Amino acid sequence: LGGTISRALQQMSNATIIDEKVLNDCLNEITRALLQSDVQFNLVRDMQKNIKKIVNLDDLAAGHNKRKIIQQAIFNELCKILDPGKPSFTPKKGKTSVIMFVGLQGSGKTTTCTKYAFYHQKKGWKPALVCADTFRAGAFDQLKQNATKAKIPFYGRFSCIPLFVEIDLSCNSYTESDPVRIAVEGVERFKKENCDLIIVDTSGRHKQEAALFEEMRQVSEATKPDLVIFVMDSSIGQAAFDQAQAFKQSVAVGAVIITKMDGHAKGGGALSARAREVEFEQWGRIWSWEKVLVSCISSVASDYGDVHKDDSHNQVAATKSPVIFIGTGEHMDEFEVFDVKPFVSRLLGMGDWSGFMDKIQEVVPMDQQPELLQKLSEGNFTLRIMYEQFQNILKMGPIGQVKCIPIIYIYIYIIIFDVSAQEHLEKVFSMLPGFSQELMPKGREKESQAKIKRYMTMMDSMTNEELDSSNPKLMNESRIMRIARGCGRPVRDVMEMLEEYKRLAKIWSKMKGLKIPKKGEMSAL
Ligand code: GDP
Ligand code: MG
Repeated sequence: LGGTISRALQQMSNATIIDEKVLNDCLNEITRALLQSDVQFNLVRDMQKNIKKIVNLDDLAAGHNKRKIIQQAIFNELCKILDPGKPSFTPKKGKTSVIMFVGLQGSGKTTTCTKYAFYHQKKGWKPALVCADTFRAGAFDQLKQNATKAKIPFYGRFSCIPLFVEIDLSCNSYTESDPVRIAVEGVERFKKENCDLIIVDTSGRHKQEAALFEEMRQVSEATKPDLVIFVMDSSIGQAAFDQAQAFKQSVAVGAVIITKMDGHAKGGGALSARAREVEFEQWGRIWSWEKVLVSCISSVASDYGDVHKDDSHNQVAATKSPVIFIGTGEHMDEFEVFDVKPFVSRLLGMGDWSGFMDKIQEVVPMDQQPELLQKLSEGNFTLRIMYEQFQNILKMGPIGQVKCIPIIYIYIYIIIFDVSAQEHLEKVFSMLPGFSQELMPKGREKESQAKIKRYMTMMDSMTNEELDSSNPKLMNESRIMRIARGCGRPVRDVMEMLEEYKRLAKIWSKMKGLKIPKKGEMSAL
């Protein structure tokens, strides 16, 4: 999807004159891509209409940058399709919030509750888990195991009736498994213990049943959650609409989390299985991932096309609640914040600098890298900075062996040498302009290290003036000849190194002016 859309934009950019035909071709291409991604027809139709309304080519005076205006319009409308426009309730650290999770059985509620708690705990919150699922045997056990692993306090009761115990149906033992009561008890207890994030996991059913929705209504009424999060399996695609709407009718869904975005989920539904198989070969994983996401979000979260509200066939947005996280695996930390704007940026191949900076902060502790980030934000990239970064790269050893390498170094490494790191970094690459669709060739670490060393030898023959200048014109012919002689390498090699420097400097300069958060600002959500 991203590939098709960004290619359509690229084609438009390559056209010498932007006229009605070029615009239409571009819009048709995008429309087709969205429809193929299962986005509802009326959303796509409205989007095309709106863009054409905004981009009135006849009215645009000559001096206007039509390409930019069109790209911006497409960006805005895509964001609108995927974003209800109003943020969800956001809990505040230190202030008690009750968060209730709802969703069908197997959608990933219990797993996601723990991920959500763990995510906040890492940022210094005091989360707690309450198991109000008394329907499924073993539900509490599962939550208990998860919570214990993450060292998060939990509350609940074993609801499954031990097989070896005779049940006396006349006694009151069933109140023990009353989900409403357990939920209230748990919430009360953790409020007393001053937890700031009390998470209530609820039960599900295989189908959407009246009993389930009644239970959700009661639990919600009794615990008065600040936020109800609807958890949805990404493999259900457009069926998400009905499901989300059914929940929305009994509880006030305020946010959505989409799970199993990793493509490894067992027994995934028809859409994901097909998308993953067929598209995988064609475009690689990122493509089907986007496609599934766009399909799900547009049917659950969108507030688009409200103009047709009276049109009963028009299924706009089931919950109109933003997607706030996505689950990307079974493990506790396979969980990502979701944000529409960076996602669409990447979809359009525009890159995502803010997401990139977030990643840098995640991996590089600020107190270790203040100078580098400072230089980065100044945007002046000198040969000396390149030299220093090379030194750092060599110090770190082969890239494939270090998991937590400062992203910036990987970035430099990749930009210059087209080297791939592990798969877990692919998403970082996808945030970088120009890297959205390509996957880097693997297994060229040794070659790159040799190249770095060669470049450094050449730079050793440079003067201080040359190293500290950010003016590429300084490097004239006689200087290049002198450097080549000094390091005993052909002029062509020096030229190649300077070309790489220019390439990197250009990208580096795009980071100019980025706001660097101060220490402490990062841990606050
Ligand atoms: P619940 O019935 O809604 O509470 O669902 P569970 O949390 O028990 O999850 C059902 C299954 O989906 C479990 O096997 C989980 O490990 C798995 N699961 C949940 N989230 C993800 C995810 O993001 N990726 C993958 N691959 N599996 C997931
Ligand atoms: Mg569960």
